[in-house]
Amino acid sequence: MKIAVIGAGIIGVTTAWELARDSHEVTVFERRIATAEEGSFANAGLIAPGYLGPWAAPGMPFKILRHLLAQHAPVRFSLPLSGSDLAWMWKCWRACSAETHLRNRQRLQGLAIYSRARLHELAAELEFEFDHSKGLLVLLRSERDQAQLRPGLQLLREQGIAHRELKPEEARAVEPALNPDTIFHGALHLPDDEAGNCRQFALLLKNAALARGVQFAFSSTVERLTPGAGMAVQLAGEAQPRRFDAAVLCAGVDSARLLAPLGLQLPLAAVYGYSVSATVREPLNAPRSAVMDERYKVAITRLGQRVRVAGGAELGGRPERQRKAAIQTLYKVLQDWFPGAAVLSSGVQTWKGARPMLPDGPPLLGASGIPGLWLNLGHGSGGWALSCGSARAVADLVAGRQPETDLGGFGLERLQR
Ligand SMILES: Cc1cc2nc3c(=O)[nH]c(=O)nc-3n(C[C@H](O)[C@H](O)[C@H](O)COP(=O)(O)OP(=O)(O)OC[C@H]3O[C@@H](n4cnc5c(N)ncnc54)[C@H](O)[C@@H]3O)c2cc1C
Repeated sequence: MKIAVIGAGIIGVTTAWELARDSHEVTVFERRIATAEEGSFANAGLIAPGYLGPWAAPGMPFKILRHLLAQHAPVRFSLPLSGSDLAWMWKCWRACSAETHLRNRQRLQGLAIYSRARLHELAAELEFEFDHSKGLLVLLRSERDQAQLRPGLQLLREQGIAHRELKPEEARAVEPALNPDTIFHGALHLPDDEAGNCRQFALLLKNAALARGVQFAFSSTVERLTPGAGMAVQLAGEAQPRRFDAAVLCAGVDSARLLAPLGLQLPLAAVYGYSVSATVREPLNAPRSAVMDERYKVAITRLGQRVRVAGGAELGGRPERQRKAAIQTLYKVLQDWFPGAAVLSSGVQTWKGARPMLPDGPPLLGASGIPGLWLNLGHGSGGWALSCGSARAVADLVAGRQPETDLGGFGLERLQR
């Protein structure tokens, strides 16, 4: 088939690759001048099935309220919030029950395990070399942090995800550079979770896809999708739409805008976050792999010769307006755990990006209900971790095959209830 992929973030590039693997003729439309320029640009890099879960969780509304006015609040709101932001928050709140959270967490973890295996296959087959490290240490500053993590441990056991609760001295053996002056309560070690450079992987896979015949049309904004005898893709500045047999929508936070005229109203929010990336100053003072500060929800990852600190959740506001306070929180967390790890006086890259997030957590994968239009979107805080598996599963559906991973709960139906 002749297939259009809309968006060249990590989801669009992996999708294009898997469709090309199935011998489709693929064209990727991307409004930016290159791959992974938006939400996939400088994320934390976690490929962590053991940590991944929906943000809608029991106790989450209370945690947000408790820290709302704190200097280093993990969640912030840019006021005034729009009506759709408020509706999204209401749906998110409704998905916070223990039962719904657990079900969605199970789904996400299952897909993430499958996805990590697919990522490993691709990286081995294509001989990719990209910045990558193994192991995730979740740092628990207090007993309360530990108590909040405990209900998820049963699920880790059920999913067969290796994990170990550690005392502070054991955690220091895993990450010897942890600041000796920072007192903490304990840690959870997930030895099979990983971190990797998402953008670097996306660029490598884009080149591999090009070599396989995929066409990339950059600086090409899709204005409209029109079904009928396949899918017509209207680009900005072109008089006539381009015709395809099918299209897969991977446009991140802007997917909802393209779906609305087709009668599909998606509760997809842009939940902004930040990262700072800096060169390692002294490897002995830097993390070996990835750590997550559970209180502030900030990740510190080692990506080759760089350290990246990422976190923060901001609802409302604009992508170009950076909040100083959110960036200061990243520096504080780095200073707390790994002072002296990175060169912060020059060459620091600061980034603000959006997580395309549905209120209950899991992404939308599969048929849109509109003939010829497929969805691979709404991966929230786990787009990198879920990308290779989501792409393979969607390509299987397009080919009329049963995906190897269970896609129950990743369809549109759950949002229409
Ligand atoms: C601070 C932060 C930390 C994160 N950490 C992690 C992590 O550790 N692990 C993890 O798995 N995930 C993480 N994420 C989430 C992850 O980055 C996202 O889920 C993922 O990048 C989403 O990928 P995407 O391809 O759907 O979206 P994007 O990368 O945003 O790609 C969508 C693309 O579509 C293009 N587009 C949109 N509309 C159009 C149009 N009309 N025409 C043409 N092109 C269009 C855009 O230009 C864009 O390039 C983090 C996110 C943030 C913000």
